[in-house]
Amino acid sequence: MSFSAFTLTPEIHRSIRDRGHHEPTPIQWGAIPVILEGHDIVATAETGSGKTAAFLIPLIDRLHREKPAGPAALIIEPTRELAAQVEREFMLLARHTKLRSALIVGGESMRKQFDDLEKGAQVLIVCPGRLIDHTERGSASLAHVKVVVIDEADRLLDMGFMPQLRRIMKMLPRKRQTLMFSATMESAAERMAREFLDNPERISIGEKAAPPSSIRQSICPVTTGQKGDVLLALVSRPEVDSAIVFTRTRDRTDRVAKMLARAGVRAVPIHGDRSQGQRNAALAGFRKGTYRVMVATDVAARGLDIQGVSHVINFDLPDEPENYIHRIGRTARMGRDGCAISLVTAEERAGLGRIERLLGITFEREMVEGFEQPEITAPKPIKVFRSGGARSPRNRARSRWA
Ligand code: AMP
Repeated sequence: MSFSAFTLTPEIHRSIRDRGHHEPTPIQWGAIPVILEGHDIVATAETGSGKTAAFLIPLIDRLHREKPAGPAALIIEPTRELAAQVEREFMLLARHTKLRSALIVGGESMRKQFDDLEKGAQVLIVCPGRLIDHTERGSASLAHVKVVVIDEADRLLDMGFMPQLRRIMKMLPRKRQTLMFSATMESAAERMAREFLDNPERISIGEKAAPPSSIRQSICPVTTGQKGDVLLALVSRPEVDSAIVFTRTRDRTDRVAKMLARAGVRAVPIHGDRSQGQRNAALAGFRKGTYRVMVATDVAARGLDIQGVSHVINFDLPDEPENYIHRIGRTARMGRDGCAISLVTAEERAGLGRIERLLGITFEREMVEGFEQPEITAPKPIKVFRSGGARSPRNRARSRWA
């Protein structure tokens, strides 16, 4: 079945065709008709599922019909990069309409944002802090907003944006359509849905956050001293077209990128200490192929949609096991194959155990020629029996990592 099954204006059908999308993805099948009917929705969907178009298509269609004079849609994103990515998708899908957007994020020129708002942008794509700045200065009004998208809700919560979101929601009309997208629906996200949404329809595509099966995953056991050289050997393999290398800290990101560059690899770092201009240039250069390797902290782990990333390499394992899934989701986009390789030292065994337990798998071992690699396996969970209060299920058995 194609997009023609949806009742959309001809201009929107045309831009979907121009965009090269032939069939709706499952989240688009689920969400588009419900949004077109005007309901609030809570959708559990990962990035990479086509969720951006799932909310943009009905939103653009509605505003194109209604032709509002000023801000009528608000799309809230946790990071500047995601906001910029959504704006790019908006421009493609709204290209045959007269709708305009304003990207309201920190680190970018206020002047351009004032201009875009003054010219009557109907769609505001924002990060919470800068939007509040504009409302306080009186340069952005939310009084006539009809549709709000809370994208990556779980990430917004993780980043502590709930107080800002409450302030923003108070400025919006009570009668509005609210669309919330989240990779996971834990209790804080459920509370957010209850607070901000009105009797939403629930749409869930794939209950469990699991990496796509098209990603080949392995670990590469190393000593701490081997990490740099093994990384260089891995990115020099002929099958590595382009790679994102994740490290634990901003400082390590810079050092690893420098090390690779010194060895002749076109590599660029991206992390939160770099200016917005540097971050934009790094992403643009990586997308274009000027850089073959982007070395990143978890700032780039979620949501970024970059076509053709053949490998994700974890130079360090992430602190949170869920971030492992987000990181490796940067490869194998839209049905392509990809590889994820994690360098693991003996000190990282516990983290490895948490990831293997989350995914329910044991990783294959990756050996690199010319290196004497150590034997590293995840620790097995051991049961600790407690005496006293033995009838209480909580006390009966506990497991911890050896
Ligand atoms: P997202 O989950 O919104 O980050 O989207 C991931 C990628 O899927 C983007 O590159 C979209 O352009 C692409 N995409 C979205 N919808 C479709 C579709 N129906 N068919 C093919 N690709 C799509």
